[in-house]
Amino acid sequence: SEIVLSIRDLTVNYYTRQGVVNALDGVELDVYQGEILAIVGESGCGKSTLARSIARILPSNAVIEKGSIILNLGSGNTVDLVRLSEDELVKIRGKIVSMIFQDPSAALSPVHKVKKQVTDHVSGEKRRVEKIAQEILKKLMMPAPHMILEKYPHELSGGMKQRIVIAASLITRPRIIIADEPTTALDVTVQAQILKMLSRLREELETTIILITHNLAVAAEIADRIAVMYAGHVVEVADVFSLFERPLHPYTKGLLKSIPKPHVDEEIEPIRGEPPSLADPPPGCRFHPRCPYVMDVCMRIKPRLEERAPGRLVACHLEER
Ligand code: ATP
Ligand code: SF4
Ligand code: MG
Repeated sequence: SEIVLSIRDLTVNYYTRQGVVNALDGVELDVYQGEILAIVGESGCGKSTLARSIARILPSNAVIEKGSIILNLGSGNTVDLVRLSEDELVKIRGKIVSMIFQDPSAALSPVHKVKKQVTDHVSGEKRRVEKIAQEILKKLMMPAPHMILEKYPHELSGGMKQRIVIAASLITRPRIIIADEPTTALDVTVQAQILKMLSRLREELETTIILITHNLAVAAEIADRIAVMYAGHVVEVADVFSLFERPLHPYTKGLLKSIPKPHVDEEIEPIRGEPPSLADPPPGCRFHPRCPYVMDVCMRIKPRLEERAPGRLVACHLEER
């Protein structure tokens, strides 16, 4: 399948009074047209920074120091999102690349009806636009769309609000949707419903979804591929089955051992130690202070993300084991 987004050597720092936080260090990642790619990793490893870099909505103290994010616009046209001006970004944001956040309440305005918020990015004759909005709400399995469009956000449940946010991001049929922990604030049943719905819609609308989550079970449930991040690096990328069946990176192995498996009576083993502060990350492989296989070279040289087998990328100095 075609590559829709190609990230190379992406390095992002936050400048704070306490110093520089190196949130992304040479991140490399390809995203394929029509897939659901999950990005997983512990809190603070840089997932949201990566998402916000792609959508180009980083906070003002963040600087993209180097690297490129090549977006494939189809018919041989590409743009580097890192190098676009604010004017050019306006044409892409929300239309070609759309972002869904964790907290639907923050994404919706309390003073406007659902109708206005869902159709904000759509131009055209009023009746027609409203029809499109109703269609998309129907696809999102919402009862009585014409009534919901007349409501204000506070009249809706959390799950309904998140569907409205998703509707607003889908209505322009973006090429890429980035969902940053879109269901974390919702209860488990609603989470499952929304994830199932996203996965169905991706097929219907031929959209690519980048799903950010700290929850491996959620990733396993709906993603095609998983990229594992650790302390600002992408350390492993694989299809869901291979990643669970035979993780290659020591961090991924630890991560899988640290979550309980249903129906398997296996000891849970947390990874020893803590992730490093990105204000002062360890040199070489950033996982080396916690790695059971650490070697001399790991402390000096950062391992490159390399393809070990078709579709299996790993950043580790260990030979394949
Ligand atoms: P979580 O799972 O908690 O959402 P995350 O993987 O999304 O975490 P990021 O939010 O991308 O992680 O943060 C990466 C690093 O950058 C962390 O060390 C974080 O403290 C730091 N960071 C994030 N935003 C800022 C900011 N605005 N200013 C300074 N540092 C920041
Ligand atoms: Fe462990 Fe070295 Fe591989 Fe890092 S590079 S994960 S420290 S073996
Ligand atoms: Mg985050």
